[in-house]
Amino acid sequence: MYIGFAPRAGRISGHQLRRVADLAEKFGDSRIRLTTQQKMVVCDIRPADVDPIVSELHAEDLRVEASAFRRGTMACTGIEFCKLALAETKMRAQWLYRELEERLPDFNEDIRINVNGCPNSCARFQVADIGLMGAVMSRGDGTKVDGFLVYLGGRIGEGLTFGRKAKSVRVYGEELVPYVETLLRRYMQSRNGHRNFSDYVNSLSDEALTAFAAQP
Ligand code: SF4
Repeated sequence: MYIGFAPRAGRISGHQLRRVADLAEKFGDSRIRLTTQQKMVVCDIRPADVDPIVSELHAEDLRVEASAFRRGTMACTGIEFCKLALAETKMRAQWLYRELEERLPDFNEDIRINVNGCPNSCARFQVADIGLMGAVMSRGDGTKVDGFLVYLGGRIGEGLTFGRKAKSVRVYGEELVPYVETLLRRYMQSRNGHRNFSDYVNSLSDEALTAFAAQP
């Protein structure tokens, strides 16, 4: 068997990494893989050891049965360590998925939310259901703050397509949670039988997409 789990939007501590290595050695053949979605996989687990290793991982807050938001949120390095960054990403992505878990507890379908600190797109905003591209924004008093431009409906795999830019939308970083929550609530209320967020968004005309993506 193999066990996949979700760190916190790509963040994991040294202590946790050592623990994962110990568990891979104890329950498997010491093989670990990293995924392109910032998740980790421990390979070669004996079936009888699945439950024990899942419990041990959960004790480290490494979630095997993670929420849709924790599974689907990834973030680039952002302003903490990247000299090209315009926006904070990693802590904000963790804040985002935790808040969405609280605010939309019944939402349980795959959704990709990719948070990027600048247009270089290391976390690929173009192929996310909700792609966020970091930008510098100005408040009314001229103060500079970080925020995000929004791309919707991107997808890889079957039906691959780039996300469509939400025209005139610029979201302040501190307003990211209520904005994404609003998008998801609008989607749930008006999806009209569409299979997923990307299908729904790509069924909208340009005019309807602008209305859908408008800031509340
Ligand atoms: S997308 Fe921009 S901010 Fe994020 S890691 Fe890449 S270069 Fe840095």
